[in-house]
Amino acid sequence: CGIVGYIGQNDTKEILLTGLEKLEYRGYDSAGIATLGEDGVHVTKVKGRIAALREKVDNENDATIGIGHTRWATHGVPSVQNAHPHQSSTERFTIVHNGVIENYMALKKEYLEDVDFVSETDTEVIVQLIEKLYQKHKSTKKAFGEAMSLLKGSYAIGLIDAEDQETLYVSKNKSPLLVGLGEGFNLIASDAMATLKETNEYLEIFDKEIVLVNRSFVEVQTLDGEVINREPFIAEIDA
Ligand code: GLU
Repeated sequence: CGIVGYIGQNDTKEILLTGLEKLEYRGYDSAGIATLGEDGVHVTKVKGRIAALREKVDNENDATIGIGHTRWATHGVPSVQNAHPHQSSTERFTIVHNGVIENYMALKKEYLEDVDFVSETDTEVIVQLIEKLYQKHKSTKKAFGEAMSLLKGSYAIGLIDAEDQETLYVSKNKSPLLVGLGEGFNLIASDAMATLKETNEYLEIFDKEIVLVNRSFVEVQTLDGEVINREPFIAEIDA
């Protein structure tokens, strides 16, 4: 399983699909991507291979921001419905997640009793929680930060907000995730292998940090909002 995310120019769809193909070795049962452009969010998912996902994705897609996922099902059978990306009820927020949320039942009970869920995954709880917290904070950054502070378990997460084409919201805990740096674009990947064609410059992120990935900058913060400065490293692997 693995995730990729990209914010940059209009080759988003191709970078996500190629990234997922490179992550195939990690094993998966389903896959999907979500892209956001002038015409809104488009989600495409399949049970099975990335080749099938590639066939299903609209070629006209010229989005400049997106997220992709290969799933190794832990909560809910492998199916299109349970495949990621998952969306909140209003479809404003779209998420990909690797890992297992241990307290998803408790979170559902405490915050999301009135929400109609469309999948059986622990992941959908995260994105519905972000939407619920957005209603309180009226800030995606604050909602994302509070949601991350409530999660117990393992995760590598990428989130997009349909109302904001400038930010990819990212966090991790006990699951691998790197930020890749480029000229006029930035990206995320579970493994640098997935995106070496785009860049060999990466930023390590540590557990429970919040990362705001913009087209021209990346900001790493603690859960308390303290900004962290960190030097990137060069990934020395043959693509
Ligand atoms: N727990 C999530 C699910 O079952 C994510 C699994 C994964 O890491 O691919 O959908």
